[in-house]
Amino acid sequence: MQEKKDIRALSKAAICDFFETQGEKAFRGKQVYEWLWKKNAHSFDEMTNISKKLIVLLKTHFVINHIAVDKIQKSKDGTIKNAVKLYDDLVVESVMIPTPSRTTACISSQVGCSLACEFCATALLKRQRNLTASEIYDQVAAINKESLLYHGHKLSNIVYMGMGEPLLNYANVMESIKMITSEEGLGMSPRRITLSTVGLPKMIKKMADEDVRFNLAVSLHSAIDSIRSKMMPINDVSNLEDLMDALQYWHVKTGNRITFEYVVWKGINDTRKDVDALIKYCKRVPVKVNLIEYNAIDSNDFVQADKEAIAMYINLLEANNVIVNVRRSRGKDIDAACGQLANKEEKV
Ligand code: SAH
Repeated sequence: MQEKKDIRALSKAAICDFFETQGEKAFRGKQVYEWLWKKNAHSFDEMTNISKKLIVLLKTHFVINHIAVDKIQKSKDGTIKNAVKLYDDLVVESVMIPTPSRTTACISSQVGCSLACEFCATALLKRQRNLTASEIYDQVAAINKESLLYHGHKLSNIVYMGMGEPLLNYANVMESIKMITSEEGLGMSPRRITLSTVGLPKMIKKMADEDVRFNLAVSLHSAIDSIRSKMMPINDVSNLEDLMDALQYWHVKTGNRITFEYVVWKGINDTRKDVDALIKYCKRVPVKVNLIEYNAIDSNDFVQADKEAIAMYINLLEANNVIVNVRRSRGKDIDAACGQLANKEEKV
C-alpha cells in the first residue's frame, strides 16, 4: 500500500483541490487547514465541524504527523524542557524560558547536528534528519499552551537556538516562520523571532534576499580565525571575513542590528587581544554582543573564564560603544541551557 501523506505538507490550495477532486466542496479544505494550523489539531477526529464521512476520507489518504510532548522536566528557576517525540520515534528537545514579563520558546530545527562545535553537547549527537516545518511549528504551539497553563499568558518570543543548525534546514525553517507569523497560524510578530546560526555566509545572503523581518544571531565566540577554527570547524569552510561580508549584506538588506553570541573561556579567548579583535570586528556592522554564561558539558575541558576577564570584555566593549548584555543561564539543573540539549534522558 502506498504510504499516506502528511497532510501538513500540503498548501491550503492543495487541500481544497483534494476535496474538489473527491467531488466535495472546496471550502472544506479551508476548514481543515484551520484545524491543522491555527487550532493545531493532533488528529482528524478533533475536527468537529467536518462530517464523519469526510473524516474517514481524510484518514484514508492522509496522516497528521504531530509531535508528542513525551516528557516534561521542570527546573527550579521555572524553565521547562520538553522531550518531543517525532512520528518516526526520534526525539528532539525544546525549552520554555519564563521571566516575569515574557516567555521565550527555544526550539530545535534538526535531530542532532552536523557542525561539531567542540563546546556544544548537541554536537555529540549525529545529525539524523531535518525537522519538517510542522514539527518546528508544533514545538512553538506546545510551548504556547504551556505558557498559558503555567503563567497565564501567551508565548512572547521564539529563538531558533535548540538542537541543530537552522540554516542547514533552510526551506523548512523559513516555512515554519511563515506559519508562526501568519494569521492562519499563530499570528506572532516576526520581530519576536530570532534565528541563531553558526554563520553560513551563503545562506545568510540568501535569507537577506527574502524580505525577512525576524532577527539574526550569530554564534561568534572569537573574532580571530585561528581560535574560532579550533572550536568551530565550520570556520575553516568560511572564515570571519566571509562571514562579515554576509553580515554587512544582511544589514544593508534588512536594516537590522545583528546579535553576536559569545562565550568567554579560560585560556581560549580571555585576553586583551581577543577583546580588541572583537571590538574591531563589531565596528564593521551594527551589532550587539550577548555574553553567554558557559554551561559545562561532560565531554570536554572548556571552563568559563574568570570574572575579571568577563569584566574586561564588558568594560572595553562599552568604552568602545559596542552594546553588550550578559545573559545568565536558565534551566541548567535540567540540562536545558544553551549547548546542553543532548537527549540525555533518552539515552538511559
Ligand atoms: N546552530 C545554531 C543554533 C544553536 S544555538 C548556532 O550555533 O547558533 C545554541 C547557542 O548556544 C549557540 O550560540 C552556541 O554557540 C551556544 N552554545 C553551545 N554550547 C554551549 C555551552 N555549552 N554553553 C553555552 N553556550 C553554548
